[in-house]
Amino acid sequence: MTRIPLVTDVLDAIDQVLPERGPVVALHEPLFRGREWEYVKDCLDTGWVSSVGKYVDRFEQELAAYTGVRQAIACVNGTAALHMCLHLVGVCPGDEVLVPALTFVATANAVTYCGAVPHFADCDPVSLGIDPARLALYLSEVAERKGDECIHRVTGRRIRALIAMHTFGHPCDMAGLQAICDEFGIQLVEDAAESLGSRYQGQHTGNVGRVAALSFNGNKIVTTGGGGAILTNDLELGRLAKHLTTTAKLPHPWSFNHDQVGYNYRLPNINAALGCAQLEQLDTWLPAKRALASRYEVALGRISEATFLREPPWGTSNYWLNCLLLSNEMATQRDALLAAMHDVGIMARPAWTLMHRLPMYENAPRMELREAEQIERRLLCLPSSVTLGEAC
Ligand SMILES: *Cc1c(COP(=O)(O)O)cnc(C)c1O
Repeated sequence: MTRIPLVTDVLDAIDQVLPERGPVVALHEPLFRGREWEYVKDCLDTGWVSSVGKYVDRFEQELAAYTGVRQAIACVNGTAALHMCLHLVGVCPGDEVLVPALTFVATANAVTYCGAVPHFADCDPVSLGIDPARLALYLSEVAERKGDECIHRVTGRRIRALIAMHTFGHPCDMAGLQAICDEFGIQLVEDAAESLGSRYQGQHTGNVGRVAALSFNGNKIVTTGGGGAILTNDLELGRLAKHLTTTAKLPHPWSFNHDQVGYNYRLPNINAALGCAQLEQLDTWLPAKRALASRYEVALGRISEATFLREPPWGTSNYWLNCLLLSNEMATQRDALLAAMHDVGIMARPAWTLMHRLPMYENAPRMELREAEQIERRLLCLPSSVTLGEAC
């Protein structure tokens, strides 16, 4: 079978970036070369494997120090952290929450767990985050501010919060989104699951929203096996977050008293131990990620039908996943390209299926999603493991 020129060009570009690759190149592999064994063994040796222990406290302190927030609360996974974030900013059953249509399903699911309804927003083509300019126009047509609240005129529901998601590690336009939230009376939450190590105007992601969620799933830049965290600069919310994620138990030497319906969303000590060892290495991984991104940018720059997605002008990306955008005309070749890459062991991936195409969210309210629909057709994520960058 003869290859279409685009496929040959992209495979050539990948050969330039990864000349000495093995037979299979994963999309994003975890890396355990630090003190992971030592810290996990310490948990096993001391018996502190479960819901409390010194590594949980240490991981929380180190996360806060690293991201520059006042408080970090470790959680069992990023989805649980996001669920708590929405609960903390007062998302109630029957509310709506603005969510990007282009995101991982957990962002929308966290809204549903609160009994609320996701309301899908379009993205900007620069950062792939929610486009503030178009959202502002849209809200001025369909929503109105009443006192402290924003009401969706069509559904009559309150729009309580907006989740800004930093797609593939690229910080989104937080100033623009913050301005909309201030104008309309909407709470700003950050889904920073993909953006540990990314900065918006010099400040680590997760600092602008009232609360933010991180993920330490196995495919993220730092992993605890499974895990997540809530970040906040509001110490009162932070205290409540810790209380709610630890079954809302009142401190007492022996009795079990709980003052509200809490959650068992704690991160086990053994996972936190892994996280402490991983965090120690993050600052050596970020330059490798950037080196890999530059190589992709140069190699793909020679192909007229493809562009490399660069970090936006307002931030520094951790380049968690490197992305290639096909020209509009070449979008029809995306699946042929994916298949050709898989044939030679390169585990590239398309973008997520947009949220409004999933059966459970088909009828959710949404604005016109023309950019997200374009991106969905044209985007490919390329292998982005730290080790690939170290070879650069
Ligand atoms: C990974 C991810 C999550 C959820 O994290 P888990 O730890 O897997 O629950 C949420 N949102 C986005 C955008 C993610 O990429």
